Amino acid sequence: MKRASLHTLGCRLNQAETAVLAARLQRDGYHVVEFGEPTDLFVLNTCSVTDEAERTCRYVIRKTLKHSPGAFVAVTGCYAQTGVQELRTIPGIDLIVGNQFKWDLPAFLPAPHDLKKQPDPEVLHTRTLDREDFSLPEYGEPDSTRALLKIQDGCNVMCSFCLIPFARGHERSRLLDDVIQEARILAAGGYREVVLTGVNVGQYRQGELDLVGLIAELEEVEGLDRIRISSIEPTTITDDLLARMALSSKLCPYLHIPLQSGDDNILSAMNRPYSVDEYVRLVQRAGAKIPQLGLGTDLMVGFPGETDDAFEHTLRIAQELPFSYFHVFTYSPRPGTAATKLADQVPIAVARQRAKILSELSRLKRLAFAEQYIGSTVPVLFESGVQDGFRLGVTGNFLKVGVSSNIDLTNDLKEVRIIGASDRWAVGQLTENRQPMRGVPVL
Ligand code: SF4
Repeated sequence: MKRASLHTLGCRLNQAETAVLAARLQRDGYHVVEFGEPTDLFVLNTCSVTDEAERTCRYVIRKTLKHSPGAFVAVTGCYAQTGVQELRTIPGIDLIVGNQFKWDLPAFLPAPHDLKKQPDPEVLHTRTLDREDFSLPEYGEPDSTRALLKIQDGCNVMCSFCLIPFARGHERSRLLDDVIQEARILAAGGYREVVLTGVNVGQYRQGELDLVGLIAELEEVEGLDRIRISSIEPTTITDDLLARMALSSKLCPYLHIPLQSGDDNILSAMNRPYSVDEYVRLVQRAGAKIPQLGLGTDLMVGFPGETDDAFEHTLRIAQELPFSYFHVFTYSPRPGTAATKLADQVPIAVARQRAKILSELSRLKRLAFAEQYIGSTVPVLFESGVQDGFRLGVTGNFLKVGVSSNIDLTNDLKEVRIIGASDRWAVGQLTENRQPMRGVPVL
């Protein structure tokens, strides 16, 4: 049997999609092996968000061909959509498949017994992408106890730094029946948490049904304990959604809301469709309705025109708002985006220094978030494996908890008493072996 190995670069959405491709290849008769093991076919699902895309692709392909010199290499994903010319120059690629044809990739492969390296890559690519709502051709096997559930694709916002609208096209939603069917399969397979994933999940629409309606449907799926929203744009968070989160026993009290900058001029140059004040008021509304809310954000430093004052505004908001962590990104110009034409590029050393300051603040926020739970008992859903002697899991509001235990806790939802905190995770003790009742609040 021919072997196939797959590797994902980039976001959760890519991870969910790689799992679908793996399921498809398995059905086509491939034996799917871990990335890094010798293989006959290598599928790379790429990302174009950072300026490292090309370098990372080169590196991963070189690494694979080192242990499997005859492996047929197929590249798909966002970089295959936006960087097809650059990909053509990378040695060792046999097939390049843009996002329009991602699901058809297995069909474009030669028959397994005919897999052999090509003198030049075959390219399947269109500049434009479908706008229609979709269903998935296959359901992947999640590689985490928190299963990614893709509900949406594409984005219409056109932030001036972002290539995603070019790489993934217009907003479109996954058909409701297809989402529910996969959720049922996941629950029946023992997965207790689903993470709703997409590019702009708050724009989920199926006729009259919006994200809140979808969540209401998912809450009816027997066996699912938790529904988590992965990352959601501030302008798409409605009072209905906050009310649902406040009342639901399944929807996790957790919001990751990208802010990007705490300065109105920079937000405007980024083409982000909200002001700092609107963002702050949203966070205040959310906090008032959902007392146990876990709040995360994305911050970008070094965007063109970011003066010391503008950065200070970001720093101040980051300090003042009740974030439990943030992801910090350093701006890098992506060819084809509007921001590349902006004046006043920030020197990289300055941007790096700013990123360092925010990352340190995020570390302190994470620690403070964990510390506030010392003495409390919280329900934790455990992942597989052991890290530095701890079995790790998360609460509904995304507090990471580590427990030292000889028992395999994978996929167990356990009551844990928090006894200590670090900037990596809160340290806890199992209070009992009994699992929390279904239907209790999901903190
Ligand atoms: S909202 Fe902005 S940053 Fe997010 S995917 Fe859309 S264009 Fe990119």
